[in-house]
Amino acid sequence: MASLEGWSSTIELHPQQPDHTGRACVVNSGAYKLRPMNSLLLLQGRVIDPSQGLDAVTDILIRDGEVAALGPDAAAQAPPDAERLDATGKVVCPGLIDLHVHLREPGQNSKETIATGTAAAAKGGFTSVVCMPNTVPPIDSPSTVALVHERVASEGRVNVYVAGAISKGLAGEELGPMGSLRGAGVVAVTDDGRCIQNNELMRRALEYSTMFDLLVMDHCQDNSIVTDGVAHEGYYSAMLGLRGWPAAGEELIVARNILLAERTGARVHCQHISSAGSVRLLRKAREQGLPVSGEACPHHFTLTDAALAGSEEFWREDGQEVLISRKTSAALPFWPAYDTHVKMNPPVRSAADREALLEALADGTIEVISSDHAPHCNYEKDVEFDYAPFGITGLETELALALMQLYHAKRLALNDLIARFTTGPARLLKLTGKASLKPGSDGDVTVFDPDVEWEFRREHTASKSCNSPFYGWPMKGKALATIVAGRIVWRDPDSAASGSIQQQNQTTPTSKRKKQT
Ligand SMILES: [Zn+2]
Repeated sequence: MASLEGWSSTIELHPQQPDHTGRACVVNSGAYKLRPMNSLLLLQGRVIDPSQGLDAVTDILIRDGEVAALGPDAAAQAPPDAERLDATGKVVCPGLIDLHVHLREPGQNSKETIATGTAAAAKGGFTSVVCMPNTVPPIDSPSTVALVHERVASEGRVNVYVAGAISKGLAGEELGPMGSLRGAGVVAVTDDGRCIQNNELMRRALEYSTMFDLLVMDHCQDNSIVTDGVAHEGYYSAMLGLRGWPAAGEELIVARNILLAERTGARVHCQHISSAGSVRLLRKAREQGLPVSGEACPHHFTLTDAALAGSEEFWREDGQEVLISRKTSAALPFWPAYDTHVKMNPPVRSAADREALLEALADGTIEVISSDHAPHCNYEKDVEFDYAPFGITGLETELALALMQLYHAKRLALNDLIARFTTGPARLLKLTGKASLKPGSDGDVTVFDPDVEWEFRREHTASKSCNSPFYGWPMKGKALATIVAGRIVWRDPDSAASGSIQQQNQTTPTSKRKKQT
């Protein structure tokens, strides 16, 4: 059930119309932006901006949707009616970007919609997402891209970039119209959910992509090895009688993609890397300077396959250091064996694989954290493990789990963690105006508290679906305000109530209407 709690009353969504500056709000890069509004002054936050190596307590002024000033002079330049946000004691950084999100529109509105999916993104601190093309119909033509853009313009709360399909109908048999998809504004192509098995077709796709300088993203899965596997092939799959999904099924395709990237010069991005072997391949290829990259998801670097045997097994075997903020008197989160909320593709793997992912994120071998936010209806997940669809929701727990496993675990400095969510994805996607707080950049900002403790609760989720394994988990670190083009599209109601973030001088012109969902 989507919650309206915390939504700013100043949201106004008419992005297709020019704003008062006469600037159209549909940008050439393919994202639809919310219409900029009046000025916003962020005061005395700890501003961490990896794009310029900045970590300092200072002010930011956003005007007409762009960063107008950064530094001690920002407040002096603010017009008298500027909205003010006191960010004292909080981290202020460029808006977070998630390049792997399933918004499920068109065609799967019972799982998620652009309205609810972008609401979950805003609540998680994300100002931009890339939506995957495995919709109904698939996003494999310019008209479907246009349909998504139109829906985002009327319903979206954050910037949405579109990934187009590599192959027609995601069938893996014939290349899609990459040039016209690029013309329609896609920022990448992928058959995510599926993997192109035919190596010759993949080679052609990569050669073709270089003509348009388009990033090719791949869900790495060799079907001849994985077949109908549902769980990481290892001790737990054998013990529980679940069909194995071996790590080699991913690593073979990662190796193929590296070889083809070397031959074609195309930029290849391996999605949701899950195994230590994939990390080894990627690290070596990047040391050689090949144009390959990878991403890791919080469920893969937090959970292990012990979770398939139930929570008790997980906490005993692999979970001791995960819940850093748990009160010793509090009960550990519970789930049963064969819980379908621990079923994802690729599967959660061994503790050694999880460790390799954390090391890869720490040393920069993996430069992007993504959610693979994959909503499914309750009735779809409430079946035997074998029959349940793969995937979990992730946008609302992504930042906290990353902070817990990387920053609080002392593996990664805050600046580098923020880079995995900002400059990392922006560089791959060649997004202009994003992932920076330099004056002239888009006014997309995330305000978060890395230390606030909270519990992720089912009834508070903004997503339309509830297929997360993390309900009841004590979390540490949370987005408190999400700002898109100078608009506050999400504000944490608890922090606003406690006064930690307050709007000091809000102007509420009568023309503004409350956004209903
Ligand atoms: Zn995938």
